[in-house]
Amino acid sequence: MSAPSDPAPNSSDYVSDVAAFRQDFRQYLRRLDCADAWRSAAFPSAEEGLAHDATVMARLHADNWIRYGWPEVVGGLGGTEIHRAVLYEELGQAMLPIPAQAWTLEVMAPATLKFAPHLAGEYLPNYLNGSEWWGQGFSEPDSGSDLASLRTRATEDGDGFVVNGQKIWTSQGGTAKRLCVLVRTGTPESRHRGLSMLLIDTDAPGLTVRPIALASGRRELAEVFFDDVRVPANRLVGEVGGGWAVTMFLMQYERGMYGYAALNKVLMELGRLRQYMVDRAVGQAARERFARVYVDVITAQARAATTVRKLAAGEAVGPESSIDKLLCSEAERAVNDLILDVARDHMMVNAAGAEAAELDTARAEWWYSRAATIMGGTAEVQRGIIADHILGLPKERRAS
Ligand SMILES: Cc1cc2nc3c(=O)[nH]c(=O)nc-3n(C[C@H](O)[C@H](O)[C@H](O)COP(=O)(O)OP(=O)(O)OC[C@H]3O[C@@H](n4cnc5c(N)ncnc54)[C@H](O)[C@@H]3O)c2cc1C
Repeated sequence: MSAPSDPAPNSSDYVSDVAAFRQDFRQYLRRLDCADAWRSAAFPSAEEGLAHDATVMARLHADNWIRYGWPEVVGGLGGTEIHRAVLYEELGQAMLPIPAQAWTLEVMAPATLKFAPHLAGEYLPNYLNGSEWWGQGFSEPDSGSDLASLRTRATEDGDGFVVNGQKIWTSQGGTAKRLCVLVRTGTPESRHRGLSMLLIDTDAPGLTVRPIALASGRRELAEVFFDDVRVPANRLVGEVGGGWAVTMFLMQYERGMYGYAALNKVLMELGRLRQYMVDRAVGQAARERFARVYVDVITAQARAATTVRKLAAGEAVGPESSIDKLLCSEAERAVNDLILDVARDHMMVNAAGAEAAELDTARAEWWYSRAATIMGGTAEVQRGIIADHILGLPKERRAS
């Protein structure tokens, strides 16, 4: 991408005036020289997609826009979650895909800022400018929904820890520079009280990353093996034994901010589908289904906007973020099902060249949307949280 041409003023005005931030960012996107290339970019692999998106992050950073919503300590220009939400909204409006690094940034950066400001100050500036990204190392082969059962162990040793174990399903793990890893520092039975969070470099000796190809063929996830990996004590995020508190804080962002960004992405996809439907004058039934799905997305967005406002005000969201997660993930699946059903003939074409990459990307999106109600906590688990912690329903009787 070319050199910055239209940077946002490095000004505190946008911090207090979100409407001006929105308006000027919208203008910027209209004039952006690389917008058409960004809008239509499609790649045959997840790795190439991430490399492209890193250049988008770099450009938005060089032009200052992506720095709003983040504090100065991480190279930001101030503002709150609302600035970030506006940025995602405007990208969606302009039919520009949100760079993939923004997803993991939203999940991990706020918790790092709160619980390890020294690490945030050192590494998040590079996350924001696209030169590095991280993976979230929580799930293990036998610990997904029941995260508190995880077994990857960190033993205190001298001035640091030695880590042994395995993680799985790490998004962007194949190319991530660092991982936020939830480890057991307490006894095997200590459940959530015996967990700690470490930020570990993926090039640390003893750490092996093995990418996982999904049904689409894309290596979007990875499994990670730790074999006597030494981690300095200053890589601790929060306290020893305080990993669950970090995780709960992080989950608010994973379910709230990530969800909000994901909805803006699906709104963009609905915008593309709308054009497709207009061009082909599709029938009444498909138009009615489009309308129903659109209402579901807007409903989820309205709900998630409440969460964004709470996070921006520094309020804890807690179990309520499960409502966001549920609505957002189901809307995401519904949109992708609609796209496949309406544009099935087009999606199944055996194309060549640029169109092949575009169709392969569209098909990979559909495959990935199958996982929307699994990743970040399954829909069943979210329903359980809502039933137990929000509605106060009687405990489910389980078969003994
Ligand atoms: C695309 C994708 C990206 C992911 N990215 C990451 C990542 O970056 N980092 C990371 O750490 N993990 C990641 N995950 C893993 C994800 O968090 C787990 O898959 C998820 O939490 C479910 O865990 P599990 O796969 O072990 O399934 P299990 O926990 O084994 O669940 C199996 C089934 O049982 C049901 N179930 C389990 N417990 C209950 C319960 N209490 N009540 C009702 N039903 C229940 C589940 O709903 C599910 O249907 C990702 C997963 C996917 C698919």
